[in-house]
Amino acid sequence: MTVLIIGGGASGLMAAITAKSTEPAARVIIAERLDRVGKKLLATGNGRCNFSNLNTQPSNYYGKRPSFVNNALKEFTVEDTVNFFNMLGIFPREERGGRLYPYSLQASAVLDALRIKCDALGVEMLTGKCVKQITVKNGTLKAVFESGERLGADAVILAAGGCASPALGSDGSGYELLKKLGHTITPLAPALVQVKTDTRPIKGLAGIKIEGSAALIQDKRVLGSAQGEILFTDYGLSGPPIFELSAKMPFKKGLTIALDFMSEYSLKQVFDVLEGRQRALGGTMENFFAGLLNKRLGNLVARAAGIEKLSFAVSALDKDMLWDMARLIKEYKIEVTGLNGFKNAQVTAGGVLTDEFSPYTMQSKLVKGLYCCGEIYDIHGDCGGYNLQWAWSSGHLAGLSAVKGNGK
Ligand SMILES: Cc1cc2nc3c(=O)[nH]c(=O)nc-3n(C[C@H](O)[C@H](O)[C@H](O)COP(=O)(O)OP(=O)(O)OC[C@H]3O[C@@H](n4cnc5c(N)ncnc54)[C@H](O)[C@@H]3O)c2cc1C
Repeated sequence: MTVLIIGGGASGLMAAITAKSTEPAARVIIAERLDRVGKKLLATGNGRCNFSNLNTQPSNYYGKRPSFVNNALKEFTVEDTVNFFNMLGIFPREERGGRLYPYSLQASAVLDALRIKCDALGVEMLTGKCVKQITVKNGTLKAVFESGERLGADAVILAAGGCASPALGSDGSGYELLKKLGHTITPLAPALVQVKTDTRPIKGLAGIKIEGSAALIQDKRVLGSAQGEILFTDYGLSGPPIFELSAKMPFKKGLTIALDFMSEYSLKQVFDVLEGRQRALGGTMENFFAGLLNKRLGNLVARAAGIEKLSFAVSALDKDMLWDMARLIKEYKIEVTGLNGFKNAQVTAGGVLTDEFSPYTMQSKLVKGLYCCGEIYDIHGDCGGYNLQWAWSSGHLAGLSAVKGNGK
């Protein structure tokens, strides 16, 4: 039998290795539009590849029907992933929040390991081959390449990714292939990306980095929070906690981010600190926050508390003003106006409707012999290794089902 995998990214490479290991007699071919496979993998985790997360749960995933991930994550668990990569020489290193990296902290090691395994198994790689169409005639699937060449297969696994970071290969062409076959593509949006905000509350802060926590709020409900280095930009906010929260933002309206600049301290403790500084420092507001908050940020906090002039005497601060400033330090609210574009996004929210696929085999319910895996689905995960875990789990299940002819 012949299995054609369209897309040589994380999920496609995993599907190929599983298919060929399960059925060595099968011809397993990867068709990749770029001149090499796995280009995006090299960029993952800032070049360190956060390949999984020990805390992976179905609740880390989003989409119209996130429970679609349940079976694939059970079939190929985080433990299976760790064992799989260990067998390929990738010794895991655990970091904050259960994030797993190769011990060498080199994404290239992960890609090399996958490529070497594909070579050893005899997976065929066709690079520089962009698939423009998939045809179905009398139950036979054929891929039509940009060059006009055609390639028939008993099973086709579409692992073409979404449309995030198109420079790394996934340009959204997989969605077009699916649409032509009658599949539904849900609305698409960038995720794990910088956030655009009302720029008034952060005026003059562009370029400043602070350690703190950020909470995402909708209708007074906290949807999530994250801790770490927050970067102010001229359009809004960036940095790891903002990326983390952005996973929950696509398609939602009325969102606010509340920043906590002294997250280790309670509101009362922050008030006490400010009161103590008032007694100790004197002088004007010009230097009141120096050594506590970034100076420009301190000025904004003072202004937001109604103190217009930096020449305002610290001794003239009354209790209400101190409480206002303490509250602003603990909960500095900034309205979200949007997300940065696909160009800089790590993943795509939305994709092919999962209801049109079997969660047990990853096979299309509309086109027999067609399977999908990875980000092309209307599934995206939290920041922290969850998206690659989905790529491995869904790729494994698609590769296994394709050679076993499951559901055919
Ligand atoms: C900068 C960056 C950092 C990231 N870091 C992490 C991280 O640390 N941890 C994590 O879990 N996730 C991370 N992600 C997300 C993760 O990389 C993706 O979710 C994952 O790679 C998706 O795998 P995939 O196989 O579905 O798609 P991709 O890896 O995007 O692969 C799709 C492949 O298909 C090819 N292709 C597309 N269309 C066609 C066609 N028509 N014909 C032939 N080939 C085609 C593309 O060229 C590409 O090689 C990151 C993403 C980015 C952009």
